[in-house]
Amino acid sequence: MNIVFIGPPGSGKGTQSKQLLAKLGLSHLSTGELLRSSQQQGMALGKEASDSMDRGNLVPDELVVGLVDNRLDHPDCKRGCLFDGFPRTVGQAQALDQMLAKRSTRVHLVLELVVDESELVTRILRRAKTSGRVDDTPETVQTRLDVYHSQTAPVVDHYRQFDLVEEIDAVGTEEEVFQKIMVCVERLS
Ligand code: AMP
Repeated sequence: MNIVFIGPPGSGKGTQSKQLLAKLGLSHLSTGELLRSSQQQGMALGKEASDSMDRGNLVPDELVVGLVDNRLDHPDCKRGCLFDGFPRTVGQAQALDQMLAKRSTRVHLVLELVVDESELVTRILRRAKTSGRVDDTPETVQTRLDVYHSQTAPVVDHYRQFDLVEEIDAVGTEEEVFQKIMVCVERLS
């Protein structure tokens, strides 16, 4: 089973992904984590991505799609993946459809986490105190939210045409949100 998590920064994608991974035994495919680890390892790709990441802008599609294509070749991805932070543009969504079709599979479910904007800003700035992430600053938060609305929200419409989207009200305790997610996942099986 392949599940895509879509939601603005601060909507709880990372936290909820971890819970769902533990429950379903899927592989985690977070492009943010892949990019940060390329940076930490001093890889050329990490350096190329740094400027966009630090400013809260998206890294070019071809860089991210290449990373995902490589990751999908790892044997653990055969059991299915949980895509966290990918796709973030309609171009990436189309590329993902093709990469999965090439491997005789597809996206089975898209979970859209919905949280209102003032709550998102509060959450990101709270996370900034402990995350150590250079992009968790007040200056980049608004850019990341604007990027989400202009480039990533249309990805939800892309998947709506295939009737794959479940909207999750992601305000509440971690456990409450997770229960809502599980209701949608269990409907699939
Ligand atoms: P995240 O950890 O998912 O919040 O991602 C952190 C940053 O990495 C984003 O603000 C982007 O600069 C970059 N990034 C992560 N995933 C993608 C993606 N799918 N497409 C483009 N840029 C990405």
